[in-house]
Amino acid sequence: MINVDAAIQTQFDQAQHIVFLTGAGVSTASGIPDFRSANGLYTQNKNAEYYLSHAFFKADPQEFYDFCKQNLYFPDAQPNVIHDKQSELTNQGRAAVITQNIDNLYEVAGTQELVDFHGNLFHVSCEKCHQSVDWHDYLKNRIHQGCGGPLRPDIVLYDEGIPSEAITRSLAYLQQADLVVIVGTSMRVYPFAGLLNYRNPQATVIAVNQEALSLPVKFEMIQEDAVQFFSELEV
Ligand SMILES: [Zn+2]
Repeated sequence: MINVDAAIQTQFDQAQHIVFLTGAGVSTASGIPDFRSANGLYTQNKNAEYYLSHAFFKADPQEFYDFCKQNLYFPDAQPNVIHDKQSELTNQGRAAVITQNIDNLYEVAGTQELVDFHGNLFHVSCEKCHQSVDWHDYLKNRIHQGCGGPLRPDIVLYDEGIPSEAITRSLAYLQQADLVVIVGTSMRVYPFAGLLNYRNPQATVIAVNQEALSLPVKFEMIQEDAVQFFSELEV
């Protein structure tokens, strides 16, 4: 045991309401690029925030569609040990996951208590008639065969707000948390980063991340590879 010392393991063993706050670093081990990292989409393409806006979806639906298909979808990606261990803790009724990731891997891993804070690429619906459509169909055709309306992934675009249901559920989990574990995110993107302010003030806060984080709360920094950490963590 290198990364998970006995005191940390005990904290996980004793916690009854763990909340994982997670981001892109969880999915890079599954081959999904971190869009905000040095080589990521946002630095290669300065207009990415515009491409991923509802305004652009309306103005140029074909280019929006092509951009999403080429840059966001990794349908062959599989969950890794981070998803699996966190998911197992949710199955034990001791944890919930609030993620910024839109890649569906927590759902594939069978996570029971899950908030996709920024939505989910693999949940697709028609903007005209609001019917849900299988994502395989969307990747073949951006037009809803049922009504002719435009299909879209149910992700939160840059000019859209977080759905109130996601916020309400996140706050409920955080208010009863006894252990908050930040994984694979620098907690710089708002409003996600602000969730930390709504935690149970008695909760212990731990961050597992390659780069040291600066947070406005008292926390323990575990500056390690999250794959290594969760490989060693016993759940
Ligand atoms: Zn429709």
